[in-house]
Amino acid sequence: MNGDDPTKQAAEPGTTAKTTKAAAKARPTAGGRSRPAPSEAGPRAPRPKRARSAVEARSEPSGAPVPAPAPAPHVLIIGGGGTGGALAHDLALRGLRVTLVERGEVTSGATGRHHGLLHSGARYATTDRPAAIDCITENKILRRICPGSFEENDGLFVAISDEDVEYEKQFVEACWQCAVPTKRLTREAALRMEPGLNPGLRFAYQVPDATMDAMRVPLRFMATARRNGADIRPFTEVVEVTMTGRTVSGVKVRDHAAGRDYEIGADIVVNAAGPWAAKVASLAGVSVPVVASPGVLVAVRGRHCNMVVNRLHAPGDGDIVLPQRLRTIVGTSSWVTDDPDEITAPADHAAMIVRESAALVPAIARAEVAAVWSAARPLVSGGAVVSGQAVAGPRHRGRLAAAGIPAAGVAAPTGTGRGLARDLRCFDHATDKTPTEGFVTIAGGKATTLRAMAEAAADVVCAKLGLTLPCQTTDVVLLPHTAWYSA
Ligand SMILES: Cc1cc2nc3c(=O)[nH]c(=O)nc-3n(C[C@H](O)[C@H](O)[C@H](O)COP(=O)(O)OP(=O)(O)OC[C@H]3O[C@@H](n4cnc5c(N)ncnc54)[C@H](O)[C@@H]3O)c2cc1C
Repeated sequence: MNGDDPTKQAAEPGTTAKTTKAAAKARPTAGGRSRPAPSEAGPRAPRPKRARSAVEARSEPSGAPVPAPAPAPHVLIIGGGGTGGALAHDLALRGLRVTLVERGEVTSGATGRHHGLLHSGARYATTDRPAAIDCITENKILRRICPGSFEENDGLFVAISDEDVEYEKQFVEACWQCAVPTKRLTREAALRMEPGLNPGLRFAYQVPDATMDAMRVPLRFMATARRNGADIRPFTEVVEVTMTGRTVSGVKVRDHAAGRDYEIGADIVVNAAGPWAAKVASLAGVSVPVVASPGVLVAVRGRHCNMVVNRLHAPGDGDIVLPQRLRTIVGTSSWVTDDPDEITAPADHAAMIVRESAALVPAIARAEVAAVWSAARPLVSGGAVVSGQAVAGPRHRGRLAAAGIPAAGVAAPTGTGRGLARDLRCFDHATDKTPTEGFVTIAGGKATTLRAMAEAAADVVCAKLGLTLPCQTTDVVLLPHTAWYSA
């Protein structure tokens, strides 16, 4: 416990001591438990991990005291965005001890500021098949485990220009290859479905996109993780990664609420710091090829469409329009930056986004702008800075292999970031050229794929600890987001 937050010591057995593989293996695993039916209401109760009391031990028939089971290994997660929250949920369900630290309020990074589109994968089908396959797979899973969190309004890909018409064949074939369902609509049918569309449209494709509240879905993961024992600490910033030689032993944090620093020990530290992943990795002397790629979003007053409206072309600027309650959110743009703490929302981006999106939904050109903001995507680059080997979890690798896609294929970085892959990457830094043990980075992906990112990272964590603990998050229905606000 040396160096741990003194106020938390009683609740944190083993936060500094490394748990041996043998002790960890001796713990009961979740492997023998049957999965609940997907329709099961509420999250699964945490597996009992209670050490037996001295009284219980004395009453053993043999009379010999039974030693308490070894404490579960402790995993510390850096970053309270959707990825970190989903990972806390996954690891807590697998029976591990979890602490998540977030430097601000939870979801205050990219997660709380994105567009709110539950991707069907259609947007990425022609340019990034692994991301498209992840999106359609997770789209279906999230609807099941987060009932009530989505406006199940579907999306349209709308052809307006000759170039859009030419793109049709490529789009349909790619969606088919990624198992993203599409339905062709005539101009008249599309306008009946979505009267706010540009009446000059040529045709459209209907896909299973949906709208979500950017904050509420991750809060469901966090609330459920906390109910299952995870310790989630907002306003707690990692300022140092503590090491013994090249082995990470924990972190030093700054508690911004209490105004003090303290240390937390851990068996494994996971860097889930999104666009800050490279900064956090550098605290452990590690480099990860994560690029911060900001984009601007504009909210206009009024609900000018009821579906998610996309332009039928390769992903570009200002080509997504979607409703969020009584606002319409339009976006986005894309560039790359060295510092995700220094991003602005350039005025010319907002003007361009309004102009481009008005080609899809004309009322946007006349609508009053309510807000303009930016956020940075955490994208993985296959460019110059490569450290370690990207290792996705076994299930993720299997899914891509079934589609004939190598799990580690990434695009080279470009000035706009549009060429960078959107699929997830998990780095075990023990495989770096200069190996660093006990440190894992999870990055890339989308808000839509938060659960899959968590599964991939948790698989890597469990493999490193020598544990066989299957993922259960595809089936466990999450607590409502309001549970986050109750004690
Ligand atoms: C403009 C835009 C629109 C987007 N729209 C969509 C969309 O519609 N649908 C979709 O699926 N995806 C969308 N995305 C992508 C999505 O937002 C991201 O992929 C996702 O939110 C990343 O989540 P994360 O948890 O990995 O990162 P983040 O949410 O950024 O979380 C990382 C956290 O780490 C914390 N942190 C950093 N340093 C430290 C430290 N030293 N100590 C403690 N904590 C630290 C940060 O404060 C942050 O909260 C969009 C992205 C952008 C930029």
